[in-house]
Amino acid sequence: MAGRRTLTIIKPDAFAAGKAGAIIAYLENSGFTIRAARVAHLSQAQAEAFYAVHRGRPFFASLTSFMTSGRCMPMVLERDDAVATLRTVIGATDPAEAAPGTVRKLYAVSKERNAIHASDSDENAVAEMGFFFAEMEVGVGGW
Ligand code: GDP
Repeated sequence: MAGRRTLTIIKPDAFAAGKAGAIIAYLENSGFTIRAARVAHLSQAQAEAFYAVHRGRPFFASLTSFMTSGRCMPMVLERDDAVATLRTVIGATDPAEAAPGTVRKLYAVSKERNAIHASDSDENAVAEMGFFFAEMEVGVGGW
């Protein structure tokens, strides 16, 4: 069901700061429903696999270290035009450049510790949902 589902992660900075509840409320108020959710603590290998596209970038080691530094909260979210809408409501990668009222403007600490992940395409959403969840956890319609 590409188009109506996307993958988000409340990252370790926001989760450790006790912002998960506020961010979930924000996302629900933005029209998303939660199809699947869990609390996870990524291993180094899992973080490197999830961010494999960034391998070779100067921030790769720091990013994967951050993403393994504590628990995070991956979720499958659902609504019309899910990928594009979530990218809009989370804001730019760097909170200094994020629009007022976006999740990252409200909750991010820095360009790296930026509170939340969102899939950037329907194709990547399918792959990322499959990284964290079994199809039966997502339920009717699968991916
Ligand atoms: P996103 O799609 O907005 O999350 O951004 P990207 O896919 O470009 O980058 C993935 C993640 O890597 C970001 O969310 C940040 O946590 C981190 N990141 C991106 N660019 C930088 C950077 O220039 N420096 C550092 N330290 N981290 C970065």
